[in-house]
Amino acid sequence: MNSIDFALQQPSNPLSPHNDPWDPIRSLQQFGRHTLTSVEMTVSNLCNMRCEHCAVGDTLVMTEPAKLPLELMIKRLDEVKYLETISITGGEPSFSDRTVKEYMVPLLQYARSRGIRSQINSNVTLPYSRYEQLAPYLDVMHISFNYTNADDFHQIGFAKAGHHVSRDAAAKLYDRMIDNARRLSDAGVLVSAESMINYRTHSQIAEIHKLIMEMGCQRHEVHPMYPSSFAKDLPVLSREDMRKAIERLLDTRDKNIWMLFGTLPFYHCSENPEERDLLKRLAAEPNVTVRNDPDGRNRLNVNLFTGEVFVTDFSDVPAFGNIEGEKLDDLFDRWLDHSLARSVNCHCPAAACCGPNLLVKDMYYNEVDFHQKKAIL
Ligand code: SF4
Repeated sequence: MNSIDFALQQPSNPLSPHNDPWDPIRSLQQFGRHTLTSVEMTVSNLCNMRCEHCAVGDTLVMTEPAKLPLELMIKRLDEVKYLETISITGGEPSFSDRTVKEYMVPLLQYARSRGIRSQINSNVTLPYSRYEQLAPYLDVMHISFNYTNADDFHQIGFAKAGHHVSRDAAAKLYDRMIDNARRLSDAGVLVSAESMINYRTHSQIAEIHKLIMEMGCQRHEVHPMYPSSFAKDLPVLSREDMRKAIERLLDTRDKNIWMLFGTLPFYHCSENPEERDLLKRLAAEPNVTVRNDPDGRNRLNVNLFTGEVFVTDFSDVPAFGNIEGEKLDDLFDRWLDHSLARSVNCHCPAAACCGPNLLVKDMYYNEVDFHQKKAIL
């Protein structure tokens, strides 16, 4: 099926704290309105793990149906006028070698042919041969890393397995994950390890950071964990504990590695001066960036099994269209008109902020009308 030939080109401007095309503030500044520049595709609902925190855990299955033709997906991507990035996600997107060969490699080649950036979200615990096929065309391999050792990995990574997974079996996957991350880095892929700040990790975040450095990752991504449907039983961390964890991390981090913070529940319009001070510190620290939330700002998610289009892969917001009948740019315009999109579409240019994530607003700021607020700088 991989019969589409692309003329590949290497993107010129390297990804760095000064060049993050996933941040929706870029297109907002460039076009004066939110613009679709990023498309995420869900290509698998299969996974060899069952993590405690998995945002899409309730969609994971043991067998899955056929996907839409690759040609349709590429046609829809081709129609996106200002496309800058694609992301491929799952489940574990590379769980099936067939999906790697018939969808992922051609999608990455398409991205390279158009000079746009790509990311895969993976647990990188499968044999390296899966990832080796992707590495030549891939910009960012995004992995989750919330562990201080193999025992953590065993406990967290199989929390929802529903059957016994031996510690030895888990430890083998843990070692393979570390080895694969190193090999991908050596192959020139930017390996970005994401840690979630939650009830379990907030006190260990400095130690987790150290291990991520030792694995040779070029970026440490930090997001607070917001319990989505599958992980809704996990305890919610207070904003104060979250702020303290981030401060600890800033105090102890290795300043040579790019640290990217995302979906923070702190805004420059906060009435809490400690939260505003943290944002000022984040802005002043070398090699640190705070990404505005891309979901529904410059990005949509396409489910490749059904063609349905969502604001993110894990949102409770129902699909608002299907690529079988409509162009992605048109669907994006429809989303911007949605009352939910309007509820978070504030913008304070001086703070380079374009409003809260929907889940964050729901969790911490349910009653707040951000349109009535303004950055205090
Ligand atoms: S854009 Fe919205 S969330 Fe950000 S500082 Fe302004 S009012 Fe607050």
